[in-house]
Amino acid sequence: SPLLSAAGLTKAYGKTPALRGVDLDVRPGEFLAVTGASGSGKSTLLHCMAGIVRPDEGTVTYGDTRLDTLGEERRSDLRRTEFGIVFQFGQLVPELTALDNVALPLLLAGTSRSAARAEADAWLERFGVRGQRELRPGEMSGGQTQRAALARALVTQPKVVFADEPTGALDSLATEQVLTSLTHACRETHTAVVLVTHEAQVAAYAEREVCLRDGTVHGLHPTAPPASAE
Ligand code: ADP
Ligand code: ADP
Repeated sequence: SPLLSAAGLTKAYGKTPALRGVDLDVRPGEFLAVTGASGSGKSTLLHCMAGIVRPDEGTVTYGDTRLDTLGEERRSDLRRTEFGIVFQFGQLVPELTALDNVALPLLLAGTSRSAARAEADAWLERFGVRGQRELRPGEMSGGQTQRAALARALVTQPKVVFADEPTGALDSLATEQVLTSLTHACRETHTAVVLVTHEAQVAAYAEREVCLRDGTVHGLHPTAPPASAE
């Protein structure tokens, strides 16, 4: 059964429709790309599925929980404990080192400082940026910053990571490094990824692709067989 399920999602900003009846399931541990042209509704879909934005109509269900009707405080708790979120820029705290940035979600969840730092260190290592652990975001390259941001999104062991154009500002080598690290880390920990992109190079890393056009699902491409083959 799906981990996260959207049905009949509709959302408009004033008179501008962004989503017009989208159905989408996310399976446990799968890497799903949401593609489509600029303005097709990708970010809005991600924001609705992550419980950041409420749809005008339709449902978003995570386990037994209806995200679309849940109050802001409980949605924010759920995002903190079950989801990881990465955007194109700027989710790291500029004043903190990479290590302290990655440790922060654990500290906020009550983990001891030494355990949080040890865990953060292991995640930086997984993403190939342990050598940058004492650097602040402004002192790292764009690719290193995004790898640290992904480490931070994964450090709490979420069930789903939502990533909105996480490589949008990177060159193709850095893009490949970021996506390779993400693919390995999520496969190892069985974390689902919902990745929004308009780039075919990025979507190629996904097991499944849903393509939006004008706020509706225009195509669904399984690019690999379902994991339950055996
Ligand atoms: P994408 O991520 O595919 O570029 P978006 O979900 O950002 O698509 O946008 C879908 C449509 O909704 C576009 O027409 C966009 O201009 C509009 N839109 C998105 N966010 C807002 C907003 N906060 N206010 C007004 N219109 C918005
Ligand atoms: P993305 O590539 O993530 O869609 P955008 O540049 O389209 O990024 O949007 C960045 C932010 O601006 C988002 O929060 C989005 O909701 C908002 N936004 C997008 N389109 C509009 C719009 N037409 N009017 C107001 N806000 C918008």
